[in-house]
Amino acid sequence: LEVIAAVEPRIAEATRAELADQRGSLKLIASENYASPAVLLTMGSWFSDKYAEGTVGHRFYAGCQNVDTVESLAAEHARELFGAPYAYVQPHSGIDANLVAFWSILAHRIESPALEKHAVKNVNELSEADWEELRHEFGNQRMLGMSLDAGGHLTHGFRPNISGKMFHQRSYGTDPETGLLDYDRVAAAAREFRPLVLIAGYSAYPRRVNFAKMREIADEVGATLMVDMAHFAGLVAGKVFTGDEDPVPFAHITTSTTHKSLRGPRGGLVLAQQEYADSVDRGCPMVLGGPLSHVMAAKAVAFAEARRPSFADYAQRIADNAQSLAEGFMSRGAKLVTDGTDNHLVLLDVSSFGLTGRQAESALLDAGVVTNRNSVPADRNGAWYTSGIRFGTPALTTRGFGKDEFDTVAELVVDVLSNTTPGTNKAGAPSKATYALADGVADRTKAISAEL
Ligand code: PLP
Repeated sequence: LEVIAAVEPRIAEATRAELADQRGSLKLIASENYASPAVLLTMGSWFSDKYAEGTVGHRFYAGCQNVDTVESLAAEHARELFGAPYAYVQPHSGIDANLVAFWSILAHRIESPALEKHAVKNVNELSEADWEELRHEFGNQRMLGMSLDAGGHLTHGFRPNISGKMFHQRSYGTDPETGLLDYDRVAAAAREFRPLVLIAGYSAYPRRVNFAKMREIADEVGATLMVDMAHFAGLVAGKVFTGDEDPVPFAHITTSTTHKSLRGPRGGLVLAQQEYADSVDRGCPMVLGGPLSHVMAAKAVAFAEARRPSFADYAQRIADNAQSLAEGFMSRGAKLVTDGTDNHLVLLDVSSFGLTGRQAESALLDAGVVTNRNSVPADRNGAWYTSGIRFGTPALTTRGFGKDEFDTVAELVVDVLSNTTPGTNKAGAPSKATYALADGVADRTKAISAEL
């Protein structure tokens, strides 16, 4: 930090403050973690200075032999870790990994047959009219993914994201009574809509998914099954999700982030069956800029960590701790979406405390508990204020928290929310944003969490 402070002291100060915040609060954001010193140090290396567009052995720049080494190692570790035929480690983030997957599917399913039909090798050889026809075809495809309020992700075909502009999209929800995925409904939606891409995976669904069933549905309607395991990749790597719950053998393409439960550097990953390997390999320059070589090196380190037996133990503790947190909430009368969890996250419906998600998130932050507000199925407060709070166990599990500590976390959260009342706006009308936290609660929570 001294080296940084000599150039821009405010960045050194912000970095120090961030470390203090991350150490001093209870980090319960389901998508966050603490990467190891080995991962962090690898990211801060000279690889940052190297350009390496292309793929291993086929670069558009000279002098990439060391980048070839790290990219090959990262891909090899990823293949071994997940048992995947093919791994692409260049995506800069989860959104980028999904974009690579979408265009790979379009390239494999739409572009390749068109090139074959016109007996040409690549798109540059198409006539202007044939190219226009192909562009029209690209824009005319359908995608089916999980609805946002059931826990799906914006990149699964929703309008604010490019995926919603690329594809005609429909979504499948969950059972209104139980909050659980209903595979018969997914199958019915797929039969009616006939998507090119069926997406499974989620950001806020607190349950496991049967990927064998999702593949059956995809096969029946001729769809490509894409699984976005960004959130639960650590549970797949740690063999907590096996058999039908392991997406990799069933999906044609599996995408992920590397920084959530997988505990690596910020980044993305695409795994694929061999038939999609060529089109995925074209990710850069199809939709990606030059790869972040320092991050690919850090991915290799993180995947090597995840291949150790201790990671399987870590992954199991993530799931056990989520159980303990869920039971801690329910035994204190709080209401959870799906009445529990069997993955790494818990979705608390805070309307039973008379609060919006926004109010609950702010009150918890005052007490040093860092979470994010989240929609619940059929949310009456909309996507901005919401009625839920999402909790995840990966980060505090990394800090060594066990079941007892997570029960105490549940106690602290319930204490804060029971002592929070909704506020009013300037005109005196009820407000979905303002709130009042009873005196002394924040200090009490911080004192107990400091001992955890
Ligand atoms: N996919 C899912 C399921 C996610 O939850 C997220 C992040 O929240 C992403 C993709 C996007 O990841 P990133 O923020 O790295 O682009």
